[in-house]
Order: sequence, then structure tokens, then C-alpha cells
Amino acid sequence: MDTLFNLSTLFCLISSLAFIVIFLYSTYIFYIENEKRAAFRALIIGLLLPIPYFIAWYYNYNILALVLFADLIITGLLFIYPFKTPQTICDETPLTKIDERNVMFSRNELIVGSENYKNYYTKYPEKEELDNIFRKEAGLCSDKSLFNHTFAFAAAHASFFAVGQFKKAVDGQVNSNRKETDPKKMSPFLKAWGKKLGALDIGFCELKDYHLYSHKGRGDEYGNEIQNTHSHAIAFTVEMTEEMVKAAPKSSIVMESAQQYLDSGRIAIQIAEFLHHLGYSARAHIDGNYQVICPLVARDAGLGEIGRMGLLMTPKQGPRVRLGVITTEFPLTTKDRKKLNYMLDFCLRCKKCAEVCPSKSISSDNPKKVDGVKRWQINSESCFTYWCKAGTDCGRCMATCPYSHPDNLLHNAIRFGIKYSPLFRQIAAPLDDFFYGRKPKSKKLPKWMN
Ligand code: SF4
Ligand code: SF4
Repeated sequence: MDTLFNLSTLFCLISSLAFIVIFLYSTYIFYIENEKRAAFRALIIGLLLPIPYFIAWYYNYNILALVLFADLIITGLLFIYPFKTPQTICDETPLTKIDERNVMFSRNELIVGSENYKNYYTKYPEKEELDNIFRKEAGLCSDKSLFNHTFAFAAAHASFFAVGQFKKAVDGQVNSNRKETDPKKMSPFLKAWGKKLGALDIGFCELKDYHLYSHKGRGDEYGNEIQNTHSHAIAFTVEMTEEMVKAAPKSSIVMESAQQYLDSGRIAIQIAEFLHHLGYSARAHIDGNYQVICPLVARDAGLGEIGRMGLLMTPKQGPRVRLGVITTEFPLTTKDRKKLNYMLDFCLRCKKCAEVCPSKSISSDNPKKVDGVKRWQINSESCFTYWCKAGTDCGRCMATCPYSHPDNLLHNAIRFGIKYSPLFRQIAAPLDDFFYGRKPKSKKLPKWMN
């Protein structure tokens, strides 16, 4: 018994020191993130939590030490117990193709009274009334919008203009002198080179029918049926910087989105051109000129899951990314995708994006059948209407998602807990609420933007 008492008191000393280190480190991280409320709370916990453990060790209170010891062991065991996680939270495969003409960006580009406008609303009369609501708002990057910022909107325009210059380069000239290339060598090269170009993560998959839109909804090819015979796809993410995202829905978000559309567009064009040069057909899918639904391709290429807010959620940066895709005839080496069910399981409980969405476009319910497929679907009309009012692409959901926190030891430890412990998944969202708030306020614009 004496040995057990000795062990318990020693354990209490180690635990109290560990709590001090963990919570002081957390305080420091929250402080440099400029999260004052979180820093204060972490500091208080760091000062209070070790007290009973310290007392038990210092005064040699054997029974108290034993109780605290047993409590920590039982709690630890509960956290590693493999409680059951539902296996099919969302269905994987869409049953029908999406028509790009139904996407809000395409509907926004319809000129009132034009042939395309008349044809579209003759086919979908129920959408005209909905779309007239966003048409009455100021519009994206408008100086009459809620978050008008002359420089930020001009900078966003400049980035969109630059990516627009790439549109004609998406399909390049394929070298007739093909250089036979080993697919096993190609994949690691593309991964390493893509990251050097600025991508965060890269994956490959076979191109499926459901990855492709049925018809083009934007640009000169409006209404054309999409023909793409490529067999494979390369998908990659680029990071949206935290500084610009956390002020969402203020103007920094649209500036950053535009910048990352440009960066992803540039990388996609470079990779497509690289394949053309080797003698393989390839197409870059970039802002305003897509044939594919990027989040579906990126998910199947193993880069993440499509969560409650309808965006790709990556394991490290959450939805705080933009995507790029290249389709090609090159037979890339692909692996079976590992489903990241734990991310969807966390989405089932978290619901933070639904809580903060200013237009209430995100559902708090469990996934429902949409066109025969169980998934989450946001209300894209009300979301886009808010964009037109705000003048930016909002991004409040992205900024608030617990997965969007910076890539550092503290947040990675939380991500680790979410990944491996079903019990931790239950408390991770309330913990995030405790430190950051259930509806954290939008942060100020970066100082240099003022
Ligand atoms: S905020 Fe929560 S519910 Fe929404 S996407 Fe992120 S993890 Fe999922
Ligand atoms: S972008 Fe804004 S309006 Fe749209 S779903 Fe996210 S939070 Fe809601």
C-alpha cells in the first residue's frame, strides 16, 4: 500500500507540473494569436488546476493523491476507449451530374434580358424570384456594400484580373514528341514540385463522371456540354492566411480569396503545361473556367472531407484553403482513399459554422438526402445574397471553424485528439466554445490595411 501511496503522490507532483506547462504554453499561444479571452482562461486554469495535485504531493495527503491518481487514470482510459463512430455519415457518390449553370456565380453572370437569362429562367422559373433578391444588393466588391474597402476591393480585382489572364492557357499545345514517363516516378515528383510551387498538399485520383459538371455555366462556352475524356486528376490545396481570414466577413477575406484563386490558378497552369510538354493532354481548372467540381475531386484525391459548410475540410487547415485541379490522360499512380470519417463525426457535433452564419444558410441538422444522396447542403441563394450585401465572399464559417486554427503544437494536439478519440470529439467543440466563444466576434482587419 505504501508503494501505491508513494506512486500516487509522485504522480500528483508530475501532473501538477504538466498542467502548469500545458496551460502556460496554451496561454502563450493564445496570446500570440491575439485571443485575449482564451489566453486569460488558459492562464486561470493553469493556475487553479494544479492546486489539488500540488497540495496532495506537498502535504503528503495519501488518500487525496490516490483519488486524483485514479481519476486521471480512469479519464485517460475513457479517452482512449474506442467508442463507436457512425460509419456512413455522408454518402460518397453523387447520383447525378451538377449543371454549372445552376451555380450562383453563373446565375450572377446572367445579364438581365439576354438570351441566356431568358432561357435559364424559362427552365427554372422558381429561381428567378430568389435571384432577384441578390440582384437588388450592392454586389461583390461594390463601393456601396457593407464592408467597402477601396484598396482591398481594388487588390481583389487585380488578382481576379490576373487569374482571368490564365483562362486561355488552361488547354495548352500537347507536344507531339511524347516522352514516355514512369508513373511511379511522376507522382512523387509532382508532389514535391507542387509543394515547391506553393501547394500545401497534393493528391491524385481517377477522374469519375460525377467529378464533371454536365454543362458549362460561365464564359464563352456557356451551355456547352462538358466533354472531358481524361482518366486522372491532380488536386491540390493552397492555404488562405489566418490573418486575412479571421477578419471575415470584412474585406480582407475577398482579397485573400482572390489571391489564392490566382496562386492556385498559376500552379494548375504550370502543372498542366508540364504535362503538355511531356506529350500528355491535360487541362487546368481555374477560377471562372472549371469543368470539374473541385471539392469532390480533392476529397477523392485524399485531401479531406466535405463537411457541414459544404467546403473541403482538410485535416490541418480545415476549410481555410482554396483548391486547384488538373485533369490529364497521364496514368498517375493512385491509392485507395482513406475516408476521414472522424472529421464528419466532429461536424455532426460541432455546428459552430451554422451558429455564426449571418444568413443562416448552414443547417444544424444531420445530413439529409439531397438528390438521393445523404449529405449536408447549404442554402446557396441566401449565402450568395449575403455576399452581395457584404461585398465580400463572407467566409465567416471558414474563420470560425475549429479546424481553421493555426498549424501549431497546441491546435495539432487538439486535432490529434479529434482524430483518435471519439470521446474527445464530444468535448472538443465545447472546449473551443469555452476558449474562443460560441459565436466569436469577427477580428479586426490587419493593421496594415487600415
Ligand atoms: S465549424 Fe464545425 S460543423 Fe462547421 S464545418 Fe467546421 S467542424 Fe464542421
Ligand atoms: S460564407 Fe458566410 S453566408 Fe455563406 S455559408 Fe459561410 S458564413 Fe454563411
